[in-house]
Amino acid sequence: MLVFAPGKSLFISLLLGSVAGAAVVIAGIWYISGQRFYFYQKTVLVLGVMLATAVVFTVAVGVFGLLLILWKGSMFPFLNSAANMAVNLLFPVALQMGRLLGISEDKIKGSFIEVNNHLITLQNVRADAREILVLAPHCLQYNGCPFKVTRNIENCRQCGNCRIGDFLKIRNEFNVHVAVVTGGTMARKYIRELRPKAVIAIACERDLTSGILDSYPLPVYGILNDRPCGPCQDTQVKTDLVNSAILNFIERR
Ligand code: SF4
Repeated sequence: MLVFAPGKSLFISLLLGSVAGAAVVIAGIWYISGQRFYFYQKTVLVLGVMLATAVVFTVAVGVFGLLLILWKGSMFPFLNSAANMAVNLLFPVALQMGRLLGISEDKIKGSFIEVNNHLITLQNVRADAREILVLAPHCLQYNGCPFKVTRNIENCRQCGNCRIGDFLKIRNEFNVHVAVVTGGTMARKYIRELRPKAVIAIACERDLTSGILDSYPLPVYGILNDRPCGPCQDTQVKTDLVNSAILNFIERR
């Protein structure tokens, strides 16, 4: 039996549900097209059904590819693109379906991020340290800190009041690019300027999901921040997760 880690299974179930739902809708339209209609109405319905069937079939191949990749724990060259395409294309549908079922948006996005990270790990992305960009959110900085680390992380005095000092250490230890960003616009600016081969991004479920989807096909490995003081203030992250993500990209060379 095919069993996935609980974190990933939610998003995968929603993907499968989305494909099944689309197939039911198509079958319904096909059934309706058999009723009494004018010739031109029937033609439009049949053409619509054919087009929708082609799209759903392609997406279903992608979902099947994703299941196979996750089950076997290795990539299949001919299925990789189809799997990535299915994940990206079906994400809004899966999100909508989850909402209808009363599942929290953060849970669905968290599950999507786990699937994304697993795929990136299996893709065996290779990068030099200078080809890796670590994007840390501004909300990691201690609320009362007077130093402007978004302009230059070296402005951090490493006082130990927040994790920004750890990111400066990470930058110095691995020689990767590290940027503290205020949001998606600034993150995209760094990606445009530095053209990294791989990105490690720390953020909340919402920002990570949009960053991963917007940046595709650039691999963005997502790490969720902890929010003990609520959203966007004095957030935390386990920096050993960042270290191991960097090592994973570098050691695969
Ligand atoms: S570690 Fe750096 S950014 Fe954080 S409070 Fe201290 S000086 Fe400010």
